[in-house]
Amino acid sequence: DGVVISRFGMHADVEDADGSVHRCNIRRTIRSLVTGDRVLWRPGVQGGATVKGIVEAVHERTSVLTRPDFYDGVKPIAANINQIAIVSAILPELSLNIIDRYLIACETLEVEPLLVLNKTDLLDEEGREFVDEQMEIYRRIGYRVLMVSSHQKNGLQELEAALTGRISIFAGQSGVGKSSLLNALLGLELGANEILTNDVSDVSGLGQHTTTASRLYHFPHGGDVIDSPGVREFGLWHLEPEQITQGFVEFREFLGHCKFRDCKHDSDPGCAIREAVENGEIDEMRFESYHRILDSMSDMQLKTRRSF
Ligand code: GDP
Ligand code: ZN
Repeated sequence: DGVVISRFGMHADVEDADGSVHRCNIRRTIRSLVTGDRVLWRPGVQGGATVKGIVEAVHERTSVLTRPDFYDGVKPIAANINQIAIVSAILPELSLNIIDRYLIACETLEVEPLLVLNKTDLLDEEGREFVDEQMEIYRRIGYRVLMVSSHQKNGLQELEAALTGRISIFAGQSGVGKSSLLNALLGLELGANEILTNDVSDVSGLGQHTTTASRLYHFPHGGDVIDSPGVREFGLWHLEPEQITQGFVEFREFLGHCKFRDCKHDSDPGCAIREAVENGEIDEMRFESYHRILDSMSDMQLKTRRSF
């Protein structure tokens, strides 16, 4: 058995328990194979000296990350991840709304979120207090928050500990420091985008991997990460209204207590969610964020329909 650490076209790189990597063909009957998939493979040269085996079967996935696809509706991009590090930072901007969107995605996928606030070196005492207060909203509803600085290497040990024993992805807005953090944690000295490009030195004859393919990396301290541009941007597309509502974990205990079954949790009379906001049991910021996301989804649906 092995793990797919990279998939490109007709081939996959499969890593064995001993760490050796084997370039494999993929049996035609396999409909879907992505980075992170656990597979049954056997050695055998087919299609040239660089191909060392064939993937025979794919084990059941515990989770699958997808992105919208023009032809297939959705396309899987990574399998078996069990943690999403949602990276944010005060620069370019601290957007709680974007954090909330990623949290909905995590709740929908049933994958554990880890909030990582990067660039703490940019905060003076006042700034730190402000950010801490914002992050407290998430701590109060049960999420884990780590404050780090990839530049000063602050908080990286806690982050390493949180990544150990898991398969994670790093998600978040562009510019928050995902590549910087990954490079620091993986012990690489690469430019911001280099982690995205696959190693082509061992390809010889098979042509270059596409730079958009996702790839699994091992952290030296333990744990794995799957990364690619597509992986980083996952989760910001269409969600059903029900998923959005369920994605706000602190709403759950109040749902079903609204006066009307089809309550929009807006200005509806007898809305238990709104009452909880008024009582301070649900944070106002999260409530506003909820409606903002619902509104943006109906806009987005119109846009996607048009572009499809
Ligand atoms: P990504 O788009 O999320 O991958 O972000 P990058 O890793 O490319 O970082 C974006 C910018 O933020 C770069 O100019 C980094 O040097 C900078 N940056 C990353 N981490 C930190 C940090 O901890 N502190 C500060 N001050 N800047 C950082
Ligand atoms: Zn309601």
